[in-house]
Amino acid sequence: MGTLEVNVEVSARHVHLSQEDIEKLFGKGYELKKKKDIAGGFVAEERVTLTGPKRSMERVAILGPARKATQIELAATDARSLGVDAPIRLSGHTEGTPGIKITAANGNSVDTEEGCIVAQRHVHLTEEDAAKLGVEQNQVVELKIDTGMKRALTFGDVVCRIGGPATVVHLDTDEGNAACTGRACKGTVIAE
Ligand SMILES: [Zn+2]
Repeated sequence: MGTLEVNVEVSARHVHLSQEDIEKLFGKGYELKKKKDIAGGFVAEERVTLTGPKRSMERVAILGPARKATQIELAATDARSLGVDAPIRLSGHTEGTPGIKITAANGNSVDTEEGCIVAQRHVHLTEEDAAKLGVEQNQVVELKIDTGMKRALTFGDVVCRIGGPATVVHLDTDEGNAACTGRACKGTVIAE
């Protein structure tokens, strides 16, 4: 059994947009404005409103650059509030998921046919750390978090995604709050 100390990051709800949807929302040939660099892309200055059958959520972040398909990443609590039955999926696997209405500040909107997911919790591993831990691509491991705030928790069903530039766990806000992580903390990955 291998263990590895890792950084844990918590992602709030956000959307990735296709170029087609960017243009429907912001105009022909539009490019998102970069507010802040993050691993693999950037946080855009623009924000959108999500409207589901039950309610709306304003000022939702857009992560750039444009993707092949629009994807709306929600915590399970968000999905329940909005009234969408978003399944747990790895990023990029949106086939057959529910859509949602996305509205820009200028009033333009797009009704996506699919794209709402609750992201499957996962750990990005460098090739080196994957070898150290003895895990293969898509192997499922556990993650233990204890921030000393009386919410120590071990998560199962953490999927290994090998080949990134850094080793980091990505959780959503429900998972982060359950373990009292705040925005970032340390955790231990445990592989059988
Ligand atoms: Zn990730």
